[in-house]
Amino acid sequence: MDAFRDTLPSVTEAPAAAPRPMTEAQSLTHRPRWSPIWRPMMLFVPLVLTLVLVNGVVGGLSVWEWIGLPMAGLFLWTLLEYLIHAFAFHPRPLSGWLKEVQASHAMHHAYPKRPEYIVARYRFTVPVAVLIFLLLWLLVGDWQRASLILVGTMIGYLAYEAVHWSIHRRWAVRFLPRRLVLHHLHHHFKDDQRCYGVTTPLWDYVFGTGPKPSRVERPSSKADEAVR
Ligand SMILES: [Zn+2]
Ligand SMILES: [Zn+2]
Repeated sequence: MDAFRDTLPSVTEAPAAAPRPMTEAQSLTHRPRWSPIWRPMMLFVPLVLTLVLVNGVVGGLSVWEWIGLPMAGLFLWTLLEYLIHAFAFHPRPLSGWLKEVQASHAMHHAYPKRPEYIVARYRFTVPVAVLIFLLLWLLVGDWQRASLILVGTMIGYLAYEAVHWSIHRRWAVRFLPRRLVLHHLHHHFKDDQRCYGVTTPLWDYVFGTGPKPSRVERPSSKADEAVR
């Protein structure tokens, strides 16, 4: 166990309550038969389509609501992406329900190419989606409008998974804007207390956690090891 922990970067030390040795060993040698990038797609794409369909059948929403509410949800996602990464994945010490999620994210920092640590698990994303829906329902006082905002948020989440997965795939990373890729690699290899945004650096600049000017340089050759 100690030897295993010694292989992790110091900035993302294996948490005290990391998975047991056998579980870690099994997960490290485990090779999924299909890429986990399809995991969130398989659940959330049908969910998005179902919510759109249900709202279409029930009706009662204006064209502007059909356009504006998902757009608001998309914008909400960019903030959630930042907050979840900065305040749920990285803080120490580990606590309660988030232990497993934080351990998995620490493993992603230690093994950036391993697909099983890039994509979030259902047992984290599903409760968060339900919680967001209930909070939106409380906020707007109407399940229909709340569900359309959630549609935009889920599309934003799927974009995040696709962008993050592509950053760590050599054949896919070429299709992404270079600055966006460098932003995430800065988080991995320069300072894991900065550059939390993945689909947009917007909130890093708003909250002052963007890359330091002197550090906006080509990432070290080590960064090449983060894509395969
Ligand atoms: Zn990453
Ligand atoms: Zn991170």
